Amino acid sequence: MSWDFSTDAETERELEWIREFVDANAVPLEALNLPRTEFDRVAAPLIAQVKERGLWAAHLDEAHGGTGRGQLRLALMNEIVGRSRVGPLLFGTAPPDSGNLELLAAHATPEQRARYFAPLLAGTVRSAVAMTEPGAGADPTLLSTRLTPDGDGWVLNGHKWFATNASLADFLLVMAVSDPEAAPRDRATVVLVDRDTPGLEIRRDIATMENPEPRPAEIENHCEIVFTDVRLPAGAVLGEPGRGFAMMQERLGPARLHHCMRWIGQAQRAFEMLCERATYRFTHGSVLADKQTIQNWIADSAAEIAAARLLTLHAAWKIDTLGAKAARTDIALIKFHGAKVLHDVVDRAVQAHGSLGFSADLPLESMYRRARAARIYDGPDEVHRQSAARLLLRDRKPPADGIPTEHLPTVRRAARRRFDLDTPDTLDTPDTPDPLDTEGSA
Ligand SMILES: Cc1cc2nc3c(=O)[nH]c(=O)nc-3n(C[C@H](O)[C@H](O)[C@H](O)COP(=O)(O)OP(=O)(O)OC[C@H]3O[C@@H](n4cnc5c(N)ncnc54)[C@H](O)[C@@H]3O)c2cc1C
Repeated sequence: MSWDFSTDAETERELEWIREFVDANAVPLEALNLPRTEFDRVAAPLIAQVKERGLWAAHLDEAHGGTGRGQLRLALMNEIVGRSRVGPLLFGTAPPDSGNLELLAAHATPEQRARYFAPLLAGTVRSAVAMTEPGAGADPTLLSTRLTPDGDGWVLNGHKWFATNASLADFLLVMAVSDPEAAPRDRATVVLVDRDTPGLEIRRDIATMENPEPRPAEIENHCEIVFTDVRLPAGAVLGEPGRGFAMMQERLGPARLHHCMRWIGQAQRAFEMLCERATYRFTHGSVLADKQTIQNWIADSAAEIAAARLLTLHAAWKIDTLGAKAARTDIALIKFHGAKVLHDVVDRAVQAHGSLGFSADLPLESMYRRARAARIYDGPDEVHRQSAARLLLRDRKPPADGIPTEHLPTVRRAARRRFDLDTPDTLDTPDTPDPLDTEGSA
């Protein structure tokens, strides 16, 4: 087995271009926090440059209009693009459009491809995904939104919330129960719903920790939606009826990886601010760089970022070489671990900046609020820990005789037989307790 941590020269040149582009354009654009229409106007020529460079929607296969660079190269790219929250918008990799594009690429009919996929890929329309409901989130088998057959088509009724970008989206991917009698994971179907379809009501842009006073129909608002007798044609179904759960899992796997890659970029940016602060802030007789606590934060942050980065790159490499299914455990691990690293590094950077870190004069406060959300969206930490543990335990078996494999008196007895030792075992006494005998214990 060979190990190679180097990046080929061509990719390195590309990454250098992306780095300069993000620092020169995305970071200052982020600081302006422009309303959507103004943002779109300023971003248009920048997006044109990205497209000209062949880097737009790089997460898609070449056959579907992306660059087909594979998850590993994509990881290296997203790490830089994700330094700024605006970066993914300039590179056509911002959720939820990015994941929706992947799902459409895999399942759209030729009509759906022309009507939804092509304009979404071109960046002339926006989309949302509505799965979560006020009563069903981490466990999508509890969904209650209903999709009922009606003549040639369907009728949709239900209540969703937290659908990102729904108030400015041109269409939504909605997951609803089409066959309540089927097994829990075979009940749901994904339908494509135009936002102006009668019966679809965007109740509100929800105020959140990320955006306490949302401006209506702005990028990254999260929306509450009610569907009342929304009539849909048969052609609204994406993929096969009843496959909604599996399709959403398919969408979320790579999407989680893309989030983790961006978090590394965000964590690195916070780390740079932490280090810079340490070099100049003078208090209690020295700069912060001389205080042991700050040194610990810097060392811990560097180690945690490096570990999360390698874990993420390894998951990307595994998807490229062995497929997404083989990387399920790795993706679950990085989803909760990456979110924690991001949160902790940003938190230390805020703390080291004191009141300045808490103020909106630095991007840290906004990064901190967003980092908090990372522990919830695309599956909360606890669910990913549970999934990872289940997968890690799947092939484990209890010891046949009930004695722990590493039980030292037992290991020693076997070792003495193996090495033909007939001298007495000085470590074992005749009253060494039998690990299975609980009767004698106090
Ligand atoms: C910023 C943001 C953007 C979002 N965008 C979208 C979107 O575009 N479309 C969409 O459909 N949804 C979206 N969501 C919703 C998101 O997917 C859900 O919030 C998430 O799945 C959790 O569901 P819930 O909020 O209902 O929490 P619940 O399911 O109520 O879970 C609450 C808590 O219970 C605990 N918990 C749950 N299950 C377990 C378990 N098995 N073991 C131990 N503890 C557990 C966890 O601590 C969890 O945080 C978004 C959320 C956020 C914060």
